Amino acid sequence: MFSKKMKNLVPYVPGEQPQDQGYIKLNTNENPYPPSPRIDKFLQTFNTKKLRLYPDPLFLELREAIAEKYKIKKDQVFIGNGSDEVLAFSFYAFFDRSRGKLMFPEFTYSFYPVYCDLFNINYQKIPLTTDFSIDIKNFLHNTESCGIILPNPNAPTGILLPLKKVRDLLDRYIDNRVIIIDEAYIDFGGESAVSLIDKYKNLLVIQTFSKSRSLAGIRIGFAMGDKALIDALFVVKDSFNSYPANTLSLEIAKLAISDIKYSDSVIKNIIKTREKLSDTLKHIGWNVLPSTANFVFAEKLGIAGEKIYLKLKEKGVLVRYFNKPGINNFIRITIGTEYEIDVLIKKIKACF
Ligand code: PMP
Repeated sequence: MFSKKMKNLVPYVPGEQPQDQGYIKLNTNENPYPPSPRIDKFLQTFNTKKLRLYPDPLFLELREAIAEKYKIKKDQVFIGNGSDEVLAFSFYAFFDRSRGKLMFPEFTYSFYPVYCDLFNINYQKIPLTTDFSIDIKNFLHNTESCGIILPNPNAPTGILLPLKKVRDLLDRYIDNRVIIIDEAYIDFGGESAVSLIDKYKNLLVIQTFSKSRSLAGIRIGFAMGDKALIDALFVVKDSFNSYPANTLSLEIAKLAISDIKYSDSVIKNIIKTREKLSDTLKHIGWNVLPSTANFVFAEKLGIAGEKIYLKLKEKGVLVRYFNKPGINNFIRITIGTEYEIDVLIKKIKACF
């Protein structure tokens, strides 16, 4: 009954989503604060008759709102069902093995190799430096590559590649191969590469509503780049699903992107709590990587990440660890509310 292709797939494993509310959940980089209050008001008065019709397959209103926010044109914006889907369409549209390997950092978002296998793309993992940062030089040795993708800040390290380095990479890499900067976490302190899309026609910047805008549940992500790249994404989308983003999600995203004051205040809180957590962990002897994201990646020398994860789970706090040599001593902690992080710190101090 099953295709050979399916039988060979090794799927991505998302972080646990326990349906009981018993845990302090710091494992999937969700935002601990609610989304913009404008959304509550909207939902209370939403006319359900609108749901009779299919949504706009061109996502025009949301693309316009995003274009306005980032001072670009709406034909430079694409929308998808979460940035995961935008990533998947992009892998399909821009990378193939006949032009070489796709390069991404050795430790990075683990969906990338999964999409490569799904779409039959060859890939090469590029080592990080000893302090877990990205050195762009290491991406420039391979002249036989079909493209580059990197999250900025990187996940799960949280380390930012400064915009100047992104520009250097674009200047020095082959200009007829696409470079994707996956900016899922850029709003927590980094500077977006979207300002470069007019100059670099091979740059695609991907962002999401899941993190800084507290809307992981609506599944909306977007890409920004030259019109030719966006047109290619529409070709892939329209070969797969005309309506990957639903009417309610599109409306909600439009409201969220316009409430800049609210998202700025949420981001400020998260950054403050992140710095407090990082400082406290360092103070009690942990090695904490410098994070510009809504999570920190930290290790307690001599204790395996899995052990820390299991102990904290037993105590009612969920964090994430990765069973990969090189990073298996680390845990990734999503920044929760100040209260949640205080509880976590207490448990850590009591257990380790
Ligand atoms: N990129 C990175 C680096 C991520 O960590 C995530 C979240 N798992 C995503 C993309 C996907 O986010 P979403 O599909 O919720 O937009």
